[in-house]
This record gives sequence, structure tokens and C-alpha cells, in this order.
Amino acid sequence: MSHVAFIGLGRMGHGMAGRYLDSGFTLAVWNRSRDKADSLIARGARWATSPADAARDADAIVTMVADDAASHKVWAGKGGIVETARNGALAIECSTVSHRHVLDMSRDLMLRGLRYIDCPVTGLPDAAAAGKLTLLVGAETNDLEVARPFLAPLGTTIRHFGAIGAGTVFKLINNLIGAVQIASLAEGLRIAEEAGLDMQLVQQSLASGAVASPQVVRHSARMVARDFAGASFTAALRHKDAHYAVTLAESLGLDPRVARAALEIYARAATEMSDDDEGQLIDLIKAGPAAD
Ligand code: NAP
Repeated sequence: MSHVAFIGLGRMGHGMAGRYLDSGFTLAVWNRSRDKADSLIARGARWATSPADAARDADAIVTMVADDAASHKVWAGKGGIVETARNGALAIECSTVSHRHVLDMSRDLMLRGLRYIDCPVTGLPDAAAAGKLTLLVGAETNDLEVARPFLAPLGTTIRHFGAIGAGTVFKLINNLIGAVQIASLAEGLRIAEEAGLDMQLVQQSLASGAVASPQVVRHSARMVARDFAGASFTAALRHKDAHYAVTLAESLGLDPRVARAALEIYARAATEMSDDDEGQLIDLIKAGPAAD
């Protein structure tokens, strides 16, 4: 039986880890806050006392934590995965981290004898729990083939963008475009509200018009109703992703001005409403200087 170590049981990771139990893998789990593991332990997962303890004997180690700092800590910090992972084990990074971090971490882990795959995902927490994520892979082809049985429980759509780092490049531009769409949607809706339009009609018209991306359809309904219940992506996570994307653009010699404007709005959202659904930034769109 194949054995998986899963590190990071937040909104996404909890459901993803559960998919390995659903699919007949043996599973060891670790999370910074232990209580999030309770229902997985009740279903048969082994609680590990550290990422290193989880990784012992694992065929694949999957991480789903917040950002670069958290990823570095669980892979290479004290009690980290590198202390025990066996030679040839798969290191599957599903967290959305920076491109620089992927390149640095993959180099270190491959020197340590692991097979590294960057595998950020798209899909909300309900898709994570249902095994319906889209997996955005950067990997050597041989390593991806070895990894496929360990990716299958998470999602059936695997997009292989190229060598290590390529999955993360796509994830970052995808989420950057999302940030720009959501920030511009918030401003557009506030303009319509201030101008006194029928907001139900505005929302229906956006949802059936030329700008009706899935982001616009989903967030226009939530923003107009000011109802942010259900599966969520936080302002802090979107800000982190936009920051990593702008840094990547700059490292490639580009000057991404629209992206920087969205990043500025999300920086404020991350400060004022860090753990709230990102759609709530509509209420951060303030009055500007008075017109003459
Ligand atoms: P989340 O609910 O905030 O969970 C974050 C996870 O990271 C938790 O397990 C948390 O541990 C852990 N963590 C944070 N800082 C840590 C540290 N310093 N050391 C160790 N562990 C740390 O976030 P999420 O929504 O599950 O997102 C996880 C990743 O998936 C992020 O990279 C995000 O960008 C990406 N993502 C999210 C979505 C989404 O819809 N939410 C979709 C696609 C991709 P605690 O439980 O102890 O806080």
C-alpha cells in the first residue's frame, strides 16, 4: 500500500488529505495547529509529531501551507521533512509559493535525493475535498509519471507546463489576472451603486455579458448581495499571490503597472481584512477627492 505524508491542514489541505484516505492510501498528517487533524485521525490517519515524523517512510510528501516562509519551515526548518525523507521519495509542493522559492527549494531537495514537483492548484476548498482540483505542474516528465498515482486523488485535470517552476509561473499569472479582475469589479460595482443603478440588473447584465468570467460571475453576485458565505479565498492569500507575481514579472525585466495597482489595493485589504473573503474589498473602495 502506498504511503503519503500530508503537511498543512488548512481550508484546502484538510480536504486534500482526506482524499488520500478516500482513495486507500495510508496517511500521516501534520499541521501547526493540531486540532485541525482530529477528524482525519478519527478516519485512520496517523498524527505525526513533526513534518520529519510524518515524512518517515513516505513514498510521497505533499505540502499545502500558506506561503514561502511556511513552506521553508516544513521542508527545511527544525523538525522539517528533509531530516527523514527517504531517497527517491516524491516532494510535491501544492502550496502557492514564489517562483524563486520553488527554484531554491527544488535544488536543495533534489541534492538531498528527492524528486521535486511544483503542483499548485486551482479550485476552492469544496473542490479540494471532492478531488476536483486542477493541478498545475512543473516537473521532469519522468518524475510526473512516477507522481501520477499520488496526484490522482486530488484532481483529474493535470496541466504539465514544463520543467520545475513552470506550474508556479502559470499559477501566479492566473491568480494575478484574478486579482485584477476582482479589484476592477469592486470599483465598477461601487461606481454603479453610487450612480444609483438597479444593482440586480447590473449583476445580471455583467453575468451574461462580454466580461462574464467565472471570477466576475461569482464575485459580482457575492459583492452586490454583500453575502460572502461559503467557500472562500482570503484577502491575505490573494495579496501574497499578487506580490509573488509582481516580483516574478520584475525578475523577468517587465514593468507590470496594472498588476501593481491591484497589488496596492490588495495590500490594503490584507492589512484591514486579512482573513476575510477577498470579495469584501468592495467596501474598501473609498470616496476620492471632491470634484470641483
Ligand atoms: P489556510 O486555510 O490559511 O491554511 C494555511 C495552512 O498553512 C494551515 O495549515 C496553516 O497552519 C499553515 N501555516 C501557515 N503558516 C505556517 C507556518 N509558519 N508554519 C507552519 N504552517 C503554517 O489557507 P488555504 O486556503 O488552505 O491555502 C493553502 C495554500 O493553497 C495557499 O498557498 C493558498 O494560496 C493556496 N490555495 C488556496 C485556495 C483557496 O481557495 N483557499 C485555492 C488554491 C490555492 P495552521 O492551521 O496552524 O494555521
